[in-house]
Amino acid sequence: MPITLPDPKTGKRYNTQSSYLKNRFGKKTVKISLNGGFTCPNIDGSKGVGGCTYCSSAGSGDFAGDPSLSVSKQFDYGKRLIRKKWGDDLCFIPYFQANTNTYAPLSRLKTLFEEALKQENTVGLAVSTRADCISKETADYLKELSERTYLTVELGLQTVHNKTAELINRCHSYEDFLHGFNMLKARGINVCVHIINGLPGESRDMMLETARRVGSLGVHGIKIHLLHIVKGTKIAEQYQRGEVVPMTMEDYIETVCDQIELLPKEVMIERLTGDGAGDMLIAPLWSRDKRAVLNGIDKELRRRDSVQGCGII
Ligand code: SF4
Repeated sequence: MPITLPDPKTGKRYNTQSSYLKNRFGKKTVKISLNGGFTCPNIDGSKGVGGCTYCSSAGSGDFAGDPSLSVSKQFDYGKRLIRKKWGDDLCFIPYFQANTNTYAPLSRLKTLFEEALKQENTVGLAVSTRADCISKETADYLKELSERTYLTVELGLQTVHNKTAELINRCHSYEDFLHGFNMLKARGINVCVHIINGLPGESRDMMLETARRVGSLGVHGIKIHLLHIVKGTKIAEQYQRGEVVPMTMEDYIETVCDQIELLPKEVMIERLTGDGAGDMLIAPLWSRDKRAVLNGIDKELRRRDSVQGCGII
């Protein structure tokens, strides 16, 4: 379906995930976060130790389900919560979110992913991972999955700048990312890329360069996050020492609007701000008010009279 912006139904000036999924599946479609009990090569020592400097010790996505429960039980729990909010007429996409969800033998991936796909009203699957944790065998299996369901593989890139990647102990380069990304792309698999604004040492131009390059790759979706300083992380120590300065809300809103203008309108925008990690959040505290951030982005795009993709030369 051709994309018209501003969206005639919602007025949004960017291609939102909720509209995309509703058009595709005919009703509201919601992701259910699951925890498959994976770890991460940047935590267990095979790539690095201690993880990315902003990652809480339990690993990213630690607000996902309880890994001691089966996939079915986690799904049922998530479904009940979502139905309280959105009612019964829903489709679901199970979402393996916590840590690195292809970092395990293929047989284990198959067991978990196939169980998720059997759940009620499931129309797809989302799998979040690192680009350096996709073997050829895993990519082939993901291709097979993508031929029978709406599969999205979410790759954490965070920045295209290797200098920043080193500063945050990412333990993979942009070139490593491209290698994994291209394996998925060559197999026709939808990829959603995660980026983070406000990483240490990054100027606005650097953040825009990250968005520009991601937009040029032919990605299916993008998640734009704000760097959160969370208790118990290395970056929290750097923040306490004054070595990391969080973005202001105004700067974040303007940067995100600039990035939206640089993304092709076909790129589905899944997120424009992160979840604030509840009581664990140290800074920036303004990010707790997600509604204010999203409204601010809408207001700024209206003020500019711009839409997604209008800044692409
Ligand atoms: S790759 Fe993800 S899970 Fe692993 S340390 Fe970094 S943020 Fe945490």
